[in-house]
Amino acid sequence: MSAFAYRNGILHAEDLPLDRLIEEVGTPAFVYSRADLQAAYRRFAGALQDAGLDARICYAVKANPHLAVIRSFAELGAGADVVSEGELRRALAAGVPADRIVFAGVGKSDGEMALGLETGILQFNVESREELLRLDAVARGLGKTAPVALRVNPDVDAKTHAKITTGKSENKFGIDIRDIPELLQLAGGLPGLAIKGLAVHIGSQITQLEPFEAAFRRVAELFTEMRSAGHPLEHLDMGGGLGIAYQGESLPSVEDYAAVVRRTVGQLGVPLVFEPGRHLVGEAGLLLARVLFVKQGRSRRFLILDAAMNDLLRPALYDAWHEIQPLREAAPDATRQPFDVVGPVCESGDIFAAGRPLPEMAAGDALAFRSAGAYGATMASTYNSRLPAPEIMVSGSHYSIIRARPSHEQLMAQETLPDWL
Ligand SMILES: *Cc1c(COP(=O)(O)O)cnc(C)c1O
Repeated sequence: MSAFAYRNGILHAEDLPLDRLIEEVGTPAFVYSRADLQAAYRRFAGALQDAGLDARICYAVKANPHLAVIRSFAELGAGADVVSEGELRRALAAGVPADRIVFAGVGKSDGEMALGLETGILQFNVESREELLRLDAVARGLGKTAPVALRVNPDVDAKTHAKITTGKSENKFGIDIRDIPELLQLAGGLPGLAIKGLAVHIGSQITQLEPFEAAFRRVAELFTEMRSAGHPLEHLDMGGGLGIAYQGESLPSVEDYAAVVRRTVGQLGVPLVFEPGRHLVGEAGLLLARVLFVKQGRSRRFLILDAAMNDLLRPALYDAWHEIQPLREAAPDATRQPFDVVGPVCESGDIFAAGRPLPEMAAGDALAFRSAGAYGATMASTYNSRLPAPEIMVSGSHYSIIRARPSHEQLMAQETLPDWL
């Protein structure tokens, strides 16, 4: 059951009517339900535990890096998966213990490596020979030993959007599975490194179990071989990627996912790390917007909103589909007409939905884009000098503005004019 539902004809977040909220905070605005964030975490963790797995969950911060979101998971015992210095600092600031932080990503700078070493993170997921050598040098320079997992590219098609598939050999991610034995050998001889395990992450918004199954089997086989060859592999990092139902489609449950994990890697008998992002935050957030105009074109009707691609990039970037719900529930027998739902940004790509059947709407009406908690606010920009949408966290009938809408003066204050201009 989602925290976002109609009550008395008004869309609510938990016990808070959203029409009242936007009177106070304006639009566009992101809204997160704390209850739904924590429920998603508990379901995910519970399913792995029920499958008898020794699992550590490291929330993938990039899906939604707000401190309040990270802290909501940290309170439940979550670690963090980070891909930059900024995310590492956020995870620490939100209260995630350093020894529960995994540092992933294909391009870590010396400074980022040093920060991870100095704070004592759980491990670096290393994605190339070049990175392995660099991390060894940085660690030795600091008199430290870097805990390392090698990220395996298993050459498996995740069957998701091309821009979020990461486990094919032509992708920039991970180390070709055939090169792992040689790199483990190399790493074993580098005094600045301590090999801890292997990692795999094949993509995002994965909606079938077969790609996971194929990737996990390959990695389990490799793990067994490498352990037999004498490499001290202690744990396995399974990545994230489990999708959510944007269109109400039927998806594998977390229980089905846990069963696949159990039958593919369970027999290894090692602790497992999981890095879910979208699955924990996607459905716990929405983006609120208002209709500025209903524009009647020659052949199409446009719903022009005050939200745009700079607020929610996923439709423009990934052809993503988000459910659109009016804040005032339409009558069950209301007729629906196709609308092109667009923003005000000067790009033809600034379109949220084409020909979407919606009940009659008028200027001033408010609506919600569902499942905008993941890869929403975090991908936002100020393109067209639009102000970033505020973020609001709801708990029960309370809410807190967890990031305020800045003023234009504040945005411009970040720029300086050269004194010769
Ligand atoms: C992005 C990413 C994740 C999270 O992916 P989701 O699809 O949001 O679960 C996990 N691990 C790594 C290495 C990532 O890059």
